[in-house]
Amino acid sequence: MKDIVRGWRHIQQRYNLIGSKCLQCGNVFFPSRVSCPECRRKSKIENFKFSGEGKIHTFSVIHTPTDEFKTLTPYVVAIIELDEGANLTSQIVDCDPETVKIGDKVEMVFRKIKAEGEDGVISYGYKFKLKN
Ligand SMILES: [Zn+2]
Repeated sequence: MKDIVRGWRHIQQRYNLIGSKCLQCGNVFFPSRVSCPECRRKSKIENFKFSGEGKIHTFSVIHTPTDEFKTLTPYVVAIIELDEGANLTSQIVDCDPETVKIGDKVEMVFRKIKAEGEDGVISYGYKFKLKN
């Protein structure tokens, strides 16, 4: 039961793309940090919910995947600049790797990441897709 609760909290956090914000200087962080590198001891850190929207800062098309991602080849992994200011790395789903460009607008989607074993645990997490 404890594990279920912990798992759910984890999902909530991933689904909502929760990072943190320093109220002192306004910097946002993803993943969240316990203190602000600029304000240090003056940091005032609070949870911060990102909109899940941003743009592609840079990306790579991956042609030699691990076994885990074999069904997805080729796929795009991008560094995404969130509208609020933090960067994160994510797979871009539902796109033709040939058409992805730097600066493309993207939005977060909630997807199955992997299933462990045939009847095993399915993990969910955030990915991004191109915004229309
Ligand atoms: Zn700060």
